[in-house]
Amino acid sequence: MIRITDKRKCSGCGACINACPKDIISFHEDGEGFLYPQVRTDQCIECHLCEKACPFVNPHPGQDNASDNPYPRFFAAQLKEKQDLFFVSSGGAFWALARAVISQQGVVFGAAQRDVDTIFHMRASSVSEAEQLRRSKYFQSDTRLTFRQVKRDLLDGRKVLYSGTACQIAGLRTFLGKDYDALFTCDVVCHGVPSRKVWRKYRQEKEASVGKKIRQLVFRDKSMGWSHNQYKITYDDGTVETERSTRQLFHAGYLQGLFYRPSCGSCRFASIPRVADITLADYWQYQGKYRQNGCDLGVSLITVNNEKGQRLLKDASAYMDFEETKRTLALASCRHLDEHPFENPDRKNFFRTFEDKGYYAAAQKYIIRRNSNNIIRRVVCKLKRIITHLTQGSKE
Ligand SMILES: Cc1cc2nc3c(=O)[nH]c(=O)nc-3n(C[C@H](O)[C@H](O)[C@H](O)COP(=O)(O)OP(=O)(O)OC[C@H]3O[C@@H](n4cnc5c(N)ncnc54)[C@H](O)[C@@H]3O)c2cc1C
Repeated sequence: MIRITDKRKCSGCGACINACPKDIISFHEDGEGFLYPQVRTDQCIECHLCEKACPFVNPHPGQDNASDNPYPRFFAAQLKEKQDLFFVSSGGAFWALARAVISQQGVVFGAAQRDVDTIFHMRASSVSEAEQLRRSKYFQSDTRLTFRQVKRDLLDGRKVLYSGTACQIAGLRTFLGKDYDALFTCDVVCHGVPSRKVWRKYRQEKEASVGKKIRQLVFRDKSMGWSHNQYKITYDDGTVETERSTRQLFHAGYLQGLFYRPSCGSCRFASIPRVADITLADYWQYQGKYRQNGCDLGVSLITVNNEKGQRLLKDASAYMDFEETKRTLALASCRHLDEHPFENPDRKNFFRTFEDKGYYAAAQKYIIRRNSNNIIRRVVCKLKRIITHLTQGSKE
């Protein structure tokens, strides 16, 4: 049976919960606010299906890594329908893939938002249902029993697109135990998921300070442009507050890795070859035709990891434009394609202050005062990375 002895080795993908034939595994929140599976041991029949489904116990063999493999290939992409770009985080590649699969009577799985605290995976079989899956939600999504639903859909002969973070895709693959022709997977590049407990406390403190409740939260509002992305908070009295994401007090702590899930700081899925058929990210450093004439509506970076991913991209060409881009440029633009998130050495101290004094006090100590140092450190890291990739590129 599944026993979590090292929290860095459980990403909370839910594969064990989906695999249990007795339904005696469920998620429980730990002291830091992360979900871990717990087994009702007295009812366990020792079938070991939970361990077999775990991508940490049983790693997926991954993509073909042969030297003549033409993949991965990298593309810049943008939705054809420009108005739709306001409802997606990047260039809308996910929406184009989803539309393509639904147009072939397929089903799409992805992360939806129920309220300001809850993100979960759901199944969509129509364009209107799939609209809920659009946009990045920067909390961990609970996959619930969607892996079982995927298997049922595949056995019913339906085409399936499953999207999520790479650890969730790895969990789905080990749960299924084999590849299915009709299954297409797409992961979003991920720089970690934050603690639910830290978010809830931040929200409560903020609500107390303004005297109103948060009714809606948009993590990536584009009304000021893609490159000026903002947190948009709507209160129960209808007032709206927007703030640049990098300056927003909760998001800044998240970006600095102060309260990531323990498994994120050593993520084994943040590497090339990637685990999914297609990987999606923001193409921040793209300077080509989708950004011409001051267009700042978002550009996706698509990594096609195998032939199946290439077929899916072709199907999606009815909904988006794309052009191939160099590996070196892609990697220079997107650190987390092949690098796991930064493990902040202050994480433990942050949690100690957070438990004693709350979010604002911990943020004062570990985010605000150190912000200028962090900015310098991040700029230096970024420059080093760009130079490394560009020098590698000139040698290719
Ligand atoms: C937690 C998180 C961290 C990310 N970190 C980076 C990063 O460091 N660098 C980068 O370039 N891009 C990152 N991304 C990806 C980026 O924000 C976009 O999601 C991606 O480029 C797809 O954008 P889109 O316009 O194609 O689709 P959108 O419509 O914007 O995104 C929808 C897709 O994201 C999935 N999704 C949304 N929220 C979640 C979630 N909580 N868990 C699992 N899947 C989710 C949906 O299932 C769907 O597939 C991150 C995304 C998430 C969710």
